Amino acid sequence: MLLNSMKSLIFSDKMCGLMKKRYFIRTFGCAQNEADSERIASYLEDQGYKPAETIEKADYIVINTCMIRQMAENRVYGLVNNLKKLKSENGLIKIVVTGCMVGMAVRDKTGKLQKVLKERLPIVDEFLPIEEIGFDFLPKRSKKRLALVPISNGCNNFCTFCVVPFSRGREISRPYEDILKECQSLVSEGYSEIMLLGMNVNSYGADLLVGENNIQVLRDLNVKYFKDTSNNASALSSKTGRVDIKKVKPVYVTHLGRQRIPTLFPLLLDDIAKIKGLNNILFMSSNPWDFSDELIEVIATNKNISREVHLPVQSGNNDVLKRMNRWYTKEEYLKLVATLKFKIKNLKLSTDIIVGFCGETDADFADTVDLAQKVGFSKAYVAIYSDRPMTAAHKAMKDDVPFTVKKKRWKILEDLINLPNLKKK
Ligand code: SF4
Repeated sequence: MLLNSMKSLIFSDKMCGLMKKRYFIRTFGCAQNEADSERIASYLEDQGYKPAETIEKADYIVINTCMIRQMAENRVYGLVNNLKKLKSENGLIKIVVTGCMVGMAVRDKTGKLQKVLKERLPIVDEFLPIEEIGFDFLPKRSKKRLALVPISNGCNNFCTFCVVPFSRGREISRPYEDILKECQSLVSEGYSEIMLLGMNVNSYGADLLVGENNIQVLRDLNVKYFKDTSNNASALSSKTGRVDIKKVKPVYVTHLGRQRIPTLFPLLLDDIAKIKGLNNILFMSSNPWDFSDELIEVIATNKNISREVHLPVQSGNNDVLKRMNRWYTKEEYLKLVATLKFKIKNLKLSTDIIVGFCGETDADFADTVDLAQKVGFSKAYVAIYSDRPMTAAHKAMKDDVPFTVKKKRWKILEDLINLPNLKKK
């Protein structure tokens, strides 16, 4: 999909004969945002723009936002307000805001969030919805060694604390062949290290396996994934040994408390791992309930897939997990970790943990500490719970853990997990 809004801004500049040639992109947040910015840069360069060394030297400024926590949002407001002077000195400068804050605002049917954005950021010329940054443009890589390859966008899981299903929308997977082609061409560009990206990277392809798409995907993949399943026995002709694609149904599995359509991620990862020249393949961020035995097997058998696996747990207490709408229990998570450690030698596990989620007691937190001690994470992104608009926790739960308590719990986990690992380095 083309950047229609951005196109119209650039077009109007051209029409006035005022087109300037320098752009600057400031990216907040996760690797997925970084990858989006790489495609925006590619689009702008295609239109004749060149990168500016600093924000002050740019005539076209794009701010790619994050709103996972209030602090991330505040940094965006701070930056845009600091640009007021620049804009007042040169009215031709265009400021475009995109990313999660805009995605969230356009999905808010009440219109309140859009109003807030416009009121708080009056100097912004354009609010560009994240969906307009499609996968059509080959990214302008910002990293020399590691190439970021987005394979999906959005999320369907609706963890009660998380804005992603609202800011990025439902999960959409990129076509399988497009990803493979991009990975192959990266090798010819000299990259040997890639990171596959998705908000739920290991849910990849589940959306491709339902409805009309199902037929094309299975045809493309030569139905190897589904051939042996008893669910599809009737689709397999005993005479020809061929599969009648129209009869193939997706297979449902229950894994860690959630009924899922088996994803295409193990297949995709296996195919990418077979590309000659790729020496280190990372992926981020995976969820426990799509971490299937097939996926573990693929990692175990392909030495060029990184042994550093990120597996967000969020909490070690079953009541808190339930309130978070994370469908596994502490025991199931530990069992999954045990399987991973058994199958994959030299595994390093990192995680995400939220402290001070609504109603989290000292005893609940002690369960998280216990889980962390049992797993022995190599790294943890420990976040202090921050109430986010539109989420179920915001609507139905009380952010009732005092900040001082949240901070104390954060420090306990930092000292337990991250400090010793920092000292080892
Ligand atoms: S935490 Fe992850 S799985 Fe849960 S809603 Fe957010 S992006 Fe989706």
